[in-house]
Amino acid sequence: MSTATKALHNRIALAFDFDDTLAPDTVSSLIESCGMDAEHFWQERVQPRVQDGWDPIPAAMYTLIAESRQRSDPAEKITRERLVDFGRNLTFFDGVPELFARLRRRAQETLPDIEVEFYLITAGIVETARRSPIAQHFRAMWGCDFHYTESGEIDFLKRIVTHTEKTRYLSQISKGLDNHKEVGRPFDVNRSMAADDLHIPLSQIIYVGDGMTDVPCFSMLNEAQGVAIGVFKTRTAQKWGEQNKVSAGQRVENLAPVDYREGSELLHSLTLAVEMLCKQIALRRQSQGE
Ligand SMILES: [Mg+2]
Repeated sequence: MSTATKALHNRIALAFDFDDTLAPDTVSSLIESCGMDAEHFWQERVQPRVQDGWDPIPAAMYTLIAESRQRSDPAEKITRERLVDFGRNLTFFDGVPELFARLRRRAQETLPDIEVEFYLITAGIVETARRSPIAQHFRAMWGCDFHYTESGEIDFLKRIVTHTEKTRYLSQISKGLDNHKEVGRPFDVNRSMAADDLHIPLSQIIYVGDGMTDVPCFSMLNEAQGVAIGVFKTRTAQKWGEQNKVSAGQRVENLAPVDYREGSELLHSLTLAVEMLCKQIALRRQSQGE
């Protein structure tokens, strides 16, 4: 390859947010499944902590830990087992279970030997996502993760993923630091890496998210010429923009209702994004051997 041509990476990645992107807000559903009213939990228990200076994500997770600790009946405690059961029974937005095979097939029809990888980056509880029926499709999943007591009760947060922290995991994907390679080596992500050595350049990553915790990822990919796609559930596209106060650098390529079925705008957008990246790689291949 000539030094005048861009580095070639035969791989693309799709990274997804979880809550309200692939499944309806799972943290709120978990709260309800633990016998609490979700609105009361967020407004009356989490919000006062936020007013007191807590970051919203650890505020919510600590509120869950405090709730479990005050329950005297062992059967009522919030345990890993409960999170696992909850995860196993999760349901997804329409078309999600078929999405991964569909996009991989489309990519391979465009460029037969392309590698397609899927990742999950959530500010919610990753244990529930890990046990969910779609977990097998992801090369790595990152999110808030608990340390548990010997009896399995949630005890402390061993990993916190917030909005800006999500961009760290885009860097990890780019540098090939997936779940196993990063364990025990949390600072490897900071090492600079030559473009040729990257696992996947950010420009070959598609990120899909629904809201405020995703804005830093949208910005990062916009800057790096990757693809950012926004989804919305009940709001209109215009309301999404207003609510998320998206500035020019944070805009997404497209904003579509969260419906991944055949014929939907969202599946069409993702298909176009996958085809575009595959064609870009095919174009760069023409320079190989020159
Ligand atoms: Mg979300």
